[in-house]
Amino acid sequence: MRTLVLLLCDMLLLVCTEKERGGKLIYWFNSYNTEIIKVQGEKVVQKVFDIYSQSGSYGLTPREGQENMSLDIAEAFQNQTNLLIEAGVGIGKSFGYLIPALLINRYSQKPIIIATSSIQLSEQIYNDAKFISEKLGFNYMQIVLGMGMNNYACKLKSFKLIEENRDVDTPDYFIAEGVAKGEIQLRSDTQESIEDNSWSKVSVSHCRYERCEYRHSCNFYKMRMQIKYHHTSVIIVNQDLFVRDIIKRNQTGDGLITNIKALTIIDEAHNFEEKVRSALTESFTIKSINLTIDRMISLFDHKSESNDHIQKFEIIKRRFYYMFQEIDRLIIKLIENGSSDSERFPIHTVHSDFSREIILLGDLQATLSLFDEDKKGREIDEAVQTLDKFLTLFSTLNGDVEENLVWVKKDNHNNHCIEFCPKNIDEVLFNNLFKLKGSVILTSATLCQSGNDIEDKYSYIKKSLGFEGVLGDPQTSPYDYVNNSIMYVANDLPIYRAGDDGNRLEYLDEVLKRIIDLCDITNGRTMVLFSAKEDLQYLVGKLGLIQTRWEKVIQKSGSNQDSVIQRFRESKGVLFGTGIFWEGINIQGPDLIQVIIVKLPFPVPTDPVMEYKMNNCNDSFKEVLIPEMLIKLRQGTGRLIRSETDKGIISILDSRLCEVANREYRLDVLKALPFKTVTENLGVVKEFAESKLNSTFSEVS
Ligand code: SF4
Repeated sequence: MRTLVLLLCDMLLLVCTEKERGGKLIYWFNSYNTEIIKVQGEKVVQKVFDIYSQSGSYGLTPREGQENMSLDIAEAFQNQTNLLIEAGVGIGKSFGYLIPALLINRYSQKPIIIATSSIQLSEQIYNDAKFISEKLGFNYMQIVLGMGMNNYACKLKSFKLIEENRDVDTPDYFIAEGVAKGEIQLRSDTQESIEDNSWSKVSVSHCRYERCEYRHSCNFYKMRMQIKYHHTSVIIVNQDLFVRDIIKRNQTGDGLITNIKALTIIDEAHNFEEKVRSALTESFTIKSINLTIDRMISLFDHKSESNDHIQKFEIIKRRFYYMFQEIDRLIIKLIENGSSDSERFPIHTVHSDFSREIILLGDLQATLSLFDEDKKGREIDEAVQTLDKFLTLFSTLNGDVEENLVWVKKDNHNNHCIEFCPKNIDEVLFNNLFKLKGSVILTSATLCQSGNDIEDKYSYIKKSLGFEGVLGDPQTSPYDYVNNSIMYVANDLPIYRAGDDGNRLEYLDEVLKRIIDLCDITNGRTMVLFSAKEDLQYLVGKLGLIQTRWEKVIQKSGSNQDSVIQRFRESKGVLFGTGIFWEGINIQGPDLIQVIIVKLPFPVPTDPVMEYKMNNCNDSFKEVLIPEMLIKLRQGTGRLIRSETDKGIISILDSRLCEVANREYRLDVLKALPFKTVTENLGVVKEFAESKLNSTFSEVS
């Protein structure tokens, strides 16, 4: 009965807060709402205790780290605080947050939001949420997987494409037909990896919503409606979508996902800073700029009686043209000098006087503000936003605006794009997420550094994200790293030196010989992780000329991660990869018994983001470069032991880490990684392989 009364009050509160913001009644209800949440929180804490004390009857396996995590989350909800908690590999992280989250949804009747960093993980959480809800007897739960619109197929676009396309043998026609028949609803439904360009012809871009005749059989529309009208218990979204939504909610007061929720969980939070940055980054190629300006010219033609705008737009277009020419020259020079191996190129030297363009853009904005909105309302809104972005870009390059970082990078088609985003992601997150009402839980297996106390351990991630709240005890992995693993550090390879007098090729040639030795010891079943694409490409070129006992499985540009992994598992060979292969891969059992790290994954200091972070601390090496390297290294080495019975070798071929090199970060690395037996002797590695992994060889041979 009490619960019912509390729920009714809670529902009334929602109605009131929408209609009568600021009134006394609201104040009363808000303070009462805190009480309601406290009572709900107490129930959740108690229920979590009950579930774990009778885990067998729920069909769950008890795990100490998982129980601690669940209780920390329940308490954070009860106290309406945020929580940062590291959950080591094997504690069952997703169950650890799903159990309290589903209970919180049950008691509060409000959705739970889970934001993740990849589609694969979202799908796994979706399945886990279904599983847990069944175990807890919550069979009515509505769980929605909401991806970015680009992942969904649009029937309307596909039917149009079929209508216009006479050549039925083209791949585009084939895909459009699959969408029209309902066989392809998501990009992941396509068998082969599909080119971005082809997919963009059928993916959702400008949805017509209620005006679309296909909406009732459209997954995108269904997802939006379920979320919009809160017919959901759990909403699983990618971090990109989530970030855009919280920003929109705080700017307009209306977010699709984040308006009413009981709890927010950010999984894989070690990626969150970069995901937020990418969600807030504006990107322009010369092609996209020209297209947008042409569209704006025709809008002005339609709306304005004078022709002034044509000349103004032409001047701006020309300025962009020369800017991109200068950028092209600059990047070629940087690459030739080998002075930047970052994906983002700094463009300090492009700075020049953009005052004239700023004045012209201001004039165009003023003209635009006089247009009546009739039928062209959306185009006018888009033009306002675009002019605003151009203005921000020119003002940033001009040095008038200091809150943005600008850089150039290559897009998927190898075109240069100029990008800018806010410098202070920590402030953005603090203002738009952490300081607001409601609990936000951030978790990942790699949030901590090797600090002396809990503050120290979380300090880097806390600062980077602008986090404010409670720091949970890191829950360590239950796996037996002492008996099941060994870490080898090469002590006799050349130390890598970048730059003009560098030794990159000599270093890589020696590394290749050691990779072959190590992969022979394990007879393949190894993943070799590179920090730089160019290093991978160089070694792959060399490997092509060498006969090996094991098959080489190579990650190529644009290759589909799942099919590369499948090939690797089937072949029991050696996978050579970079980028996405450092994290999120879960290969249990004897298919993967060694991970080789070619070079310690220090970030590139010339990367504009790193440069900015480094300029804003006292000791950039200790406070930025080492923490960034450790997070990535922990992710990469974390691919090895994925179950209680997994065994294997971590090999680090960067001799800066060996004992005699005596680098200041050696101890940090050894403390941060779970591998307790460390050797610099290949003989010891062989002995380990023979004694511990021999059974693995026979199991699979
Ligand atoms: S509802 Fe939107 S996304 Fe779905 S088919 Fe129609 S226009 Fe495309």
